[in-house]
Amino acid sequence: MALLLDGKKASTALRELLRPRVESLRARLGRPPVLVMVRVGEDPASIVYMRSKEKAAAKVGIESRTEALPESTTQETLRHRIEELNADASVEGIIVQLPLPPHLDEDAAIEAIDPRKDVDGFHPLNLGLLCAGRPRFVPATPRGILRLLEHYGVDLTGRRVVVVGRSRIVGRPLANLLSMRRDGLDATVTIAHSRTKDLRSVTREAEVLIVAAGRKRMIDGSMVADGAVVVDVGIHREEDPERPGKSRLCGDVDFISVEPKASAISPVPGGVGPMTVACLLENTVEAAEALRGEALL
Ligand code: NAD
Repeated sequence: MALLLDGKKASTALRELLRPRVESLRARLGRPPVLVMVRVGEDPASIVYMRSKEKAAAKVGIESRTEALPESTTQETLRHRIEELNADASVEGIIVQLPLPPHLDEDAAIEAIDPRKDVDGFHPLNLGLLCAGRPRFVPATPRGILRLLEHYGVDLTGRRVVVVGRSRIVGRPLANLLSMRRDGLDATVTIAHSRTKDLRSVTREAEVLIVAAGRKRMIDGSMVADGAVVVDVGIHREEDPERPGKSRLCGDVDFISVEPKASAISPVPGGVGPMTVACLLENTVEAAEALRGEALL
């Protein structure tokens, strides 16, 4: 049976490490570090996701504030609000929750955030630093995936890692990090994507397979090498056949056929998701420490 890469356990352990750092920040600031999450409109998935971030923040002692701006918000109003938060010395981290309504330009909104408070790590300056091999804020999902593998002692050095997906927030930064010359990384990385020919022959080469394609159960057992480590980033909601009228979550990996072949596998839910939230908090702690003159780790 494959080892379960349990993101709930690993994220609890990570939050325990953050707590004393938050305590020491609180002692020096005279208040908790503050994370502000700006949402425009009422996208239901964003609301659920933001609630889970609020709960996790409360567990480590970070104060999170959700600002829900109306759907009709203009680019100018959003930019103005972000600039106010940039200038507000009582705010350490700023997130603009994506997706924004279609009339708003996401790139412009992200670029308006002060890079020192950009705890999602999506600002081009932070992505550029990452590409240059000097990461500052690493986007939370790639960071969470690496932390999950680290927690379970999965060795990446020199190993063949295939990342399926090349998005700006997951696949691309993740592939960059994995190939970085640094202890615990140093992997040999292949990026597969929607135009990859014969995906099966590529994924079967992977000693570590990380799937962030946004396609429900697209990776089945026939696409995975015996003994591979499999990380499933995908999140999909579907009807639960065992509970009529209710929904459940599944991933990009067909757990039932892949698990017997894998040496380790992350579940959905309870895998990468909780790690993403914990790493967002880690970024917030690092932002607060850096703004207070402490070196980033
Ligand atoms: P995206 O849609 O921006 O990118 C998907 C990528 O997969 C693209 O680069 C595309 O080239 C590639 N792809 C699409 N179809 C493919 C195919 N048939 N074969 C090979 N490659 C294919 O998605 P994203 O934002 O990177 O998210 C991917 C998935 O991860 C989604 O299900 C999303 O909900 C989930 N996600 C989870 C977390 C988390 O915390 N667990 C965080 C972010 C995203």
